[in-house]
Amino acid sequence: MSQPYNRIYNFSAGPCTLPVEVLEEAKEDLLNYKGTGMSVMEMSHRSKAYEGIIATAEADLRTLLSVPDNYKVLFLQGGASQQFATIPMSFLPQGKTADYVITGAWGKKALESANIYGKANVVFDAKADNYNNVPDLGSLSYTPGAAYVHFTTNETIQGVQFKSDPSLNSTVVCDMSSDILSRPVDVSKYALIYAGAQKNMGPAGATVVIIRDDLLATGPDGLPPVFDYKVQVENGSMFNTPPCWSIYMCGLVYKYLLRNGGLEGARKRNEEKANVLYNAIDNSHGFFKGHAKGDCRSTMNVTFTLPDEELTKTFIKETEAAGLDGLKGHRSVGGCRASIYNAFPLEGAEALASAMQEFAAKHGKALV
Ligand code: PMP
Repeated sequence: MSQPYNRIYNFSAGPCTLPVEVLEEAKEDLLNYKGTGMSVMEMSHRSKAYEGIIATAEADLRTLLSVPDNYKVLFLQGGASQQFATIPMSFLPQGKTADYVITGAWGKKALESANIYGKANVVFDAKADNYNNVPDLGSLSYTPGAAYVHFTTNETIQGVQFKSDPSLNSTVVCDMSSDILSRPVDVSKYALIYAGAQKNMGPAGATVVIIRDDLLATGPDGLPPVFDYKVQVENGSMFNTPPCWSIYMCGLVYKYLLRNGGLEGARKRNEEKANVLYNAIDNSHGFFKGHAKGDCRSTMNVTFTLPDEELTKTFIKETEAAGLDGLKGHRSVGGCRASIYNAFPLEGAEALASAMQEFAAKHGKALV
C-alpha cells in the first residue's frame, strides 16, 4: 500500500520519520503562522507568538512525561553531545567520581567527555560481548559518594535498551536521546534526563534537558553562561537564541502524542512494531540473527545480521529499491538496523518483515 505523498518507509536512525499529520500542520503554518504574517522560522524568539509556542511545548512535554514540579525543563542547542560535556562540567567537581554504565557507543562518547573534566569510573562495560546486553543497574557496585551515575536508556547503534526505570539511591543522569517519549517513564527516578529531539520529538536542533531542582542548585558558579544550566533556567531556555523551529515542531509532536493515547499509546504501538520485526528474525531459522540479547531488545532500533556480507549488501539494495530505506547497520555491529521510532508506521514494519521472509526463502534457508 502506498503512503501519502509517495513517501517511503524511512528506517533512518535519526533524523528520522515524523508524523505526516505534524508535517501537514507545519506546512499549513509555514508561510503565515496563525495570522502573524510570518513563519515560525522568521519570528523573533522574544515575540508574544513565540513565547506561546515554547511555553505550550514545555507544558505539553510536562503533561506527557508527568514531570514533577521540582524539575525544570530546558530546550537547548548543542545536541546530546554537548550534554556529554556540560554534565561533567557542571556536576563532577574535583575530588569526586562519576560512575558510567557503558552499554554501547553513545555511553562511551559520554564517558570520553567526562574524562576530560574529572574522574569517571566505569562500573559496567559490555565491550567483551560487543554491546549486546544491559546490566541489572541495581546489582552493580557504585563508587561510594559518587557525584552521579550516568547511563543510556537505549543504545541507538547496538539496539539494546533498558526495560525499566532504575531504582537507585544516587543521582541518576540519563541519556534518553533515542527512546524518550516512546513509553511512560517515572521521571522521579532521575536527577537529570537529556535527549536530542531528532528521533522521537522533532527535527534536529533542540535538546531537551529535564533537571531536578536540588541537582541544579549544586551547579558551580563561573561557567561560561551558555553552559550554565542555572542561567538557562533563569532565562527560560532563552539565554541565547533557542532552536526556534525545532522547538515549534517538537510542540506539534507533543500535541500529536497527546491526541494519540499519550505515552501508553506510544508504548503499545512501538511494542507491536518491534514484535513484528523480532518475530521475523526469530522465525527465520537462523538466517537473520538479532544482535541484542532477548531481554534488552530495543523497541526503537532493531539490529540484525545476515549470513554474510554479500547477502547483506544484496538485501539492503533490494529493500531500498522497494522503498524500505536506511537499513544499513553501523559498521561496529554490521548487518542491518531498522529504526522504528514513534512516527514509523506499523505497515512499514510489516513490509520489512515480508521482505525478510521472502529474502530468506529465496536464498536457500526456507522458512517453515
Ligand atoms: N546519544 C544517543 C543515544 C544518540 O543516539 C545520539 C545520536 N544518534 C547522541 C547521543 C548524539 O546526539 P547529537 O548528535 O544530537 O549530539
